[in-house]
Amino acid sequence: MRNVRTGGKTAVVAGGAGFLGSHLCDRLIADGARVICIDNMLTGRPENLRQFEREPRFTLIEADIIDPLPQRLTASRDPIDEIFNLACAASPPHYQAAPEHTMLTSVVGTHQLLGLAAGKGARFMLASTSEVYGDPDVHPQPETYRGNVNPIGPRACYDEGKRAAESLASDAIRARRVDARIARIFNTYGPRMQPDDGRVVSNVICQALSGRDITVYGSGEQTRSFCYVSDLIEGFIRLMACEKELPGPINLGNPQELTVNELVRLVMAHLGADSTVTTKPLPVDDPRRRRPDITRSQTYLGWSPTVTLEAGLAATCAYFVERSADLRKPPAE
Ligand code: NAD
Ligand code: UDP
Repeated sequence: MRNVRTGGKTAVVAGGAGFLGSHLCDRLIADGARVICIDNMLTGRPENLRQFEREPRFTLIEADIIDPLPQRLTASRDPIDEIFNLACAASPPHYQAAPEHTMLTSVVGTHQLLGLAAGKGARFMLASTSEVYGDPDVHPQPETYRGNVNPIGPRACYDEGKRAAESLASDAIRARRVDARIARIFNTYGPRMQPDDGRVVSNVICQALSGRDITVYGSGEQTRSFCYVSDLIEGFIRLMACEKELPGPINLGNPQELTVNELVRLVMAHLGADSTVTTKPLPVDDPRRRRPDITRSQTYLGWSPTVTLEAGLAATCAYFVERSADLRKPPAE
């Protein structure tokens, strides 16, 4: 049974030091919640959480969710109302660097956090991914599409890990153990992406800013649909708060689809960059196209993205411009 509490909520954010997680922590703190972030700092960064240094409602527990969960969480009598599981490296170079760990993070980590949710009567949200659709034969992708994933390729540790995590969450829902929700997140971008993250938006902006060649993988005619981070976080909040019975996972993404080449042109025009565009081989199993069908999120959450690609890219470029100035400063003595 879900806790019913009148005071501020307590939310656990696994992966809260990462790109999306830190924005979620910002939003929860701004909304008056107490936030417990659990993160192993694999791809998370202390600077993403610097704003909470003097925030009494924020706690960071440095731990790996594949290890037994810290007693501070499991043995404490303090209530937990909501658990958001965002823990998992999301950029292909990062999640492929330690593939077994990536798989275990999704499977063992989600299993353990679902157990915590069951014990505490907390609501649970899994950050799943559009990668569960693999290289899709159906376009755009509705939640009913079962996907076209290579179970043995280099992306499988991530894609299949998330599919298994969805399966665990769905069983917990069916058994009425946990009030769980599954967000299938499509490519999201914004401030706090890591400059060396390897994802296309941060790569192209950082390459353009530093005058390096811009790397396009394959022909650049593959498509993605990019959602600005504030829109996505609003989707998380609505999904967690939703009182309607959900039919299953919910796509969260921006349906505006464009090719990688179009994205490169937009970023270069915005920054007035004249970098050379070079081609690199298309990674194995790189999906050819991706666009969310967001009928469900519109129907059940009243959610659809509001930030245009132009505005979102401008804010993201401004973030990296600010950081590139910082990097040029002489090192502190
Ligand atoms: P990120 O790499 O910036 O953040 C992931 C966070 O999880 C990091 O802080 C990392 O240190 C932490 N983490 C990783 N493994 C862990 C473990 N075993 N134990 C504890 N902490 C661990 O990635 P992001 O872009 O913020 O993505 C967050 C979540 O959203 C991920 O689960 C990802 O799969 C999902 N997602 C993101 C996108 C996107 O476009 N950003 C798209 C689809 C899904
Ligand atoms: N990509 C690219 N150049 C880069 C990084 C990525 O052309 O420097 C391509 C990549 O092959 C993919 C698309 O951009 O087709 C999106 O890649 P990203 O890693 O951001 O997300 P994902 O592949 O997980 O959707």
